[in-house]
Amino acid sequence: MNLTASDQSPDLETVYFNPSGFRLNSINWVNLLVISLMHAGALAAFFFFTWEGLAWMVGLYWFTGCIGITLCYHRMLTHRGLQLHPAPKSIAHLAGALSMQGLPLDWAMSHRIHHARSDKPGDPHSPLDGPWWSHMFWLFPARNYVTRKQLMAKYIPDLVRDPISLFFQNTYLIWNVLLGAGLLWFGGLPWFLWGFCLRTVMVWHMTWLINSATHIWGYRNYSTTDLSKNLWWVAFFTFGEGWHNNHHAHPVSAYHGHKWWEFDATGWVISIFSFFGLATHVRGTKPQNLPS
Ligand SMILES: [Zn+2]
Ligand SMILES: [Zn+2]
Repeated sequence: MNLTASDQSPDLETVYFNPSGFRLNSINWVNLLVISLMHAGALAAFFFFTWEGLAWMVGLYWFTGCIGITLCYHRMLTHRGLQLHPAPKSIAHLAGALSMQGLPLDWAMSHRIHHARSDKPGDPHSPLDGPWWSHMFWLFPARNYVTRKQLMAKYIPDLVRDPISLFFQNTYLIWNVLLGAGLLWFGGLPWFLWGFCLRTVMVWHMTWLINSATHIWGYRNYSTTDLSKNLWWVAFFTFGEGWHNNHHAHPVSAYHGHKWWEFDATGWVISIFSFFGLATHVRGTKPQNLPS
C-alpha cells in the first residue's frame, strides 16, 4: 500500500488541541492560576469603585479589545486584512500584549488553525466539544512545545519573521507588569482592580464569546461549512467581531459588517487609519458594497 504524505505525518492540529487529551496531570497551571486570580480581582473591583477606575476600565477596554485583539491580533496578524506603518503597528502590538490573551504569534497560530479546521477535528475551540470547552476550557490543557513549533512553521511562517511581532512576543510580560504596577502605584487598588483585573476579564469573555456564542446562536448571511453565526450583542461588545458568519465567509476582509446595519466599530477605526495613510493594503470591500 502506498502511503500519501498526509497518511505518514501525524495530524498535528488534532493532537495539539484534542479535547479528550485534557487530563488532570496535563493542566497549564499558569493559565489556570492567572485566569482565576484575575477573576477574583474582577469581583473585588466592585468593592473599590471610583469614577477614575471606571474611566481606566473603559479606555483600556477599547485600547486592548478594539486595537489590540480585533485590529492587531485578528484582522492584521492572523488574516493580513490590512497593514500598518511601523509606529501604529507597534502601538497596536502593545495593545494586543496588554490584553493578556497570550503571545501574538501563538494567538495568530491558534486562530489560523480555527479557520482551517472550523468545527472539525483539530479546531482549537469548537462548541461541538462542549460550549464551555469552546468558551474557555480549551485554554487549560498543557500543550506540547515541539508540536507548537511545528504548527508555527506550518501556519505562521510570515509572522515568525516579523521583527515587531517578535519583539512583543519576547517582551509580552514586561508590558503587563509595567501597566499593572503603574496603575497600582498611581491609583491604588481602584485603578488596578478596574483598569487591570476587571477590564482584562471583560475583554477575555467578550473574545471568548466569539469562539463559543457566535458558533452557537445567531443568524447566517452565508452558507459556510462551519457553525459560525452573526450575533448583534457580541458584535456590539467586541467592536464588530460578532458578525462571525460574515467573517468566516470572507476571512481576509478587514471589514466584518456586511449589511448596512451591521455596525463594525473596528472597521470604522481602520477607515480612519486608512484615510490618514496609517493603514495600507486594506483588503475587503466596505459594507455598503457587499451583498445584502
Ligand atoms: Zn469562528
Ligand atoms: Zn478570524
